[in-house]
Amino acid sequence: MSEKVYAFRCTTCGAVSYPKHMICPKCRGEAFEPVEVAGEGAVLTYTDVYALAVDYETRYLRLAIVELDGGMRVTGQLLDEHPRVGKRVRTTVGVVREPADKPIYGLQFVPA
Ligand SMILES: [Zn+2]
Repeated sequence: MSEKVYAFRCTTCGAVSYPKHMICPKCRGEAFEPVEVAGEGAVLTYTDVYALAVDYETRYLRLAIVELDGGMRVTGQLLDEHPRVGKRVRTTVGVVREPADKPIYGLQFVPA
């Protein structure tokens, strides 16, 4: 799959944001460069969300915050039937939602 997900590195102080901020929360800089979100990390926390918009076809969405190797923290969909804090996962990009037959791609995590 060729889809990629990018975080944004502040060109002034180097802080990385995902998703992108309009203004760097650390130094208030306004210039950013894209950094691909990829690789492996560990689950910091996860939750199941049941209150979804009507066009979701799943009963719930399992979301996780993962700390990637290198320290970047990212939020995405956790595709794991047996989640555990600290478990190793790797990033992937997949369809997270499909409203009106237009797939929306987003960050997902699968067991490493
Ligand atoms: Zn900054």
